[in-house]
Amino acid sequence: MHFYGTIWRPPYEADSLLLQAAAGCTHHACKFCTLYEDLPFRFRMSPLEEIEADLREAQLWSTDPVAMLAARLQSLPRPRGPRRVFLVGANPFVLRPERLEKIAGLIRQYLPAVESIGCFARVTDVGLKSGGELRRLRALGYDGLTIGVETGDEEALAFMNKGYRARDIVEQAGRLDEAGISYSFFYLAGISGAGRGGEGARRSAEVFNRTHPKRIGSSMLTVFPDSELYRELQAGNWKEESELEKLGELKTLIQGLNIPTRFETGGASNLVHVRGELPREREALAGALERLIAGADEESLRAYRVNLKHL
Ligand code: SF4
Repeated sequence: MHFYGTIWRPPYEADSLLLQAAAGCTHHACKFCTLYEDLPFRFRMSPLEEIEADLREAQLWSTDPVAMLAARLQSLPRPRGPRRVFLVGANPFVLRPERLEKIAGLIRQYLPAVESIGCFARVTDVGLKSGGELRRLRALGYDGLTIGVETGDEEALAFMNKGYRARDIVEQAGRLDEAGISYSFFYLAGISGAGRGGEGARRSAEVFNRTHPKRIGSSMLTVFPDSELYRELQAGNWKEESELEKLGELKTLIQGLNIPTRFETGGASNLVHVRGELPREREALAGALERLIAGADEESLRAYRVNLKHL
């Protein structure tokens, strides 16, 4: 399989076949982001021959005679290969619809059991496609996009150079809803900066409440020394939230969300792991965070953050 640099995928895509349709990020400008810094290019579209070679390799695994024999000996169903493909790279959804269509065709050709295709997408990638193109992509299996919207706080979006506004999140999510393409959001606790965590969470809840994400995953901001944000911090242009403020921000976000969605923290950046269904488990989640905040001390939480060398 062809892979460039560190491969990132959401925790819930653990069972999906990872396929490289693109590498890197077309935007590559969010101040806090160092995710694709290990690549020698900003963005690369995989040649179709490369994708086809990877699919052929994946097909071999799913028709592996040893696995077939093992299943037969144990009276298990014949292995059918992956049901879902996750296209890696920061935003393969930016690819032109014709390109995504060809990729879907290759997936269908080599792995006919695949039912859906997911990937990371930027809000702006959705805006590049017409309603008809989005519906066509849905019909080809594109579903379950993961969008790192980060926040609905206008000020933070602008400062961090995310390249879209809060209203764009609502508009493009609505277009995905219309096309029947489901999506999950990633929120970034800490993005609003010191003293603004609660405000950022309230504004984000207002924005997210106008959308229909299947899931809101939350990460916590870690400022790495090779980021643009670190330079802003050193220059005194931005102040980092304390870890306790980030936890309080999460609680405010959960309390403000009134849409049915799954909320979960996950990954190394999070100091704590909470997950549950909203709004049903809102009180339980907020209560768990409240107890954590009451029993935690900033110094030890901060030690975790400072020692986090990589996400
Ligand atoms: S869009 Fe995502 S991957 Fe690209 S720079 Fe921003 S945070 Fe990083």
